[in-house]
Amino acid sequence: MKNSKKDIRCITKEELGRFFQDHKRPSFRVQQVWDWLWRHHVLDFNQMTNISTVERKLLKEHFSITPLRIHTLKKGADGTVKFLFVLDKDKIVEGVLIPQLNRLTACISSQVGCSLACKFCATGQLKLYRNLTAGEIYDQVVLINQYSIKKFKKSITNIVFMGMGEPLLNFKNVLTGIHYITNSDGMGMSGKRITVSTVGVVKMIRKIAELNPNFNLAVSLHSAHEQKRNQIMEINKTNNLKELKGALQYFYEKTKIKPTFEYVLLKGVNDSQEDAKLLMDFCKNIPSKINLIEYNSVPNSGYEKSDVKTTDRFLKLLTKNNILVKLRRSRGEDIGAACGQLATQQKL
Ligand code: SAH
Repeated sequence: MKNSKKDIRCITKEELGRFFQDHKRPSFRVQQVWDWLWRHHVLDFNQMTNISTVERKLLKEHFSITPLRIHTLKKGADGTVKFLFVLDKDKIVEGVLIPQLNRLTACISSQVGCSLACKFCATGQLKLYRNLTAGEIYDQVVLINQYSIKKFKKSITNIVFMGMGEPLLNFKNVLTGIHYITNSDGMGMSGKRITVSTVGVVKMIRKIAELNPNFNLAVSLHSAHEQKRNQIMEINKTNNLKELKGALQYFYEKTKIKPTFEYVLLKGVNDSQEDAKLLMDFCKNIPSKINLIEYNSVPNSGYEKSDVKTTDRFLKLLTKNNILVKLRRSRGEDIGAACGQLATQQKL
């Protein structure tokens, strides 16, 4: 390993406090350094101008700062921008900026690759390489936001953890990342504008319910039929629908936050009227909303998008039954930036 120093952005404020104490430096330095790191997003100790040269040297001797950087950008015809972020010299994750009428949504990654292997998802065809650090999660938000301000003259309004990886399997870092996004030490954005999307890791949903979360939860359901969900999503074999439902009811009771269900319509797989009824039944006792998502093509997946008529019938049945449902049209498909298409294996 070339760089064996610990990344200063992977330590807690308390640990930094102990560091300064051990080196007999004044305690007010902690907040100053913290502000440089998280509020000003400074990536070089030399830029910490109110820290003495001696202390900057001390920090440099003990710590590194290893940020994620933009490698390339791709712009889609609909205004969507895909970011390839590089980390560790040769690892890549992706993020997306999605401009809508009154929103600018940043879609960010939580892991390099993914361990879940959902059959219809391009990221699922990769292996899990590693978790992103809280700093790398935060970097994506900051970089997409900087781009948004430059191009659209506006900050991002929403953040969704719907890029590569499963946020609840890297929960500690995701939570710390959210802390920096929402805290006044960092970006100071409202947690109400953040959505964490999960395949449905039951144990973690129950854990989050206990934590008084300040963010929203989305659940990739995609089928309310046990065997069908087993077929398309491995996770269902260990976290089945009954357990998932129980965890989500508990989540709502505890937090009063309405989860959103994501449901990708796959032709001939989960798009029948019977499937729609099962979906309604599943959601019945969980105050929630449903996002129907158009399937985006993924090479070698074998799945196809439901046709317009079937999609329409599915949507109508839900609407007729007073379910809060929206059809999410695909965004950024031409540049491989749409849901489930993030899977770059690009060599640098
Ligand atoms: N692991 C988390 C975060 C990824 S979010 C999760 O599964 O929720 C990405 C969203 O896009 C998920 O709802 C996922 O199921 C959905 N998705 C995956 N592949 C897709 C595809 N080919 N077309 C449309 N949506 C897809």
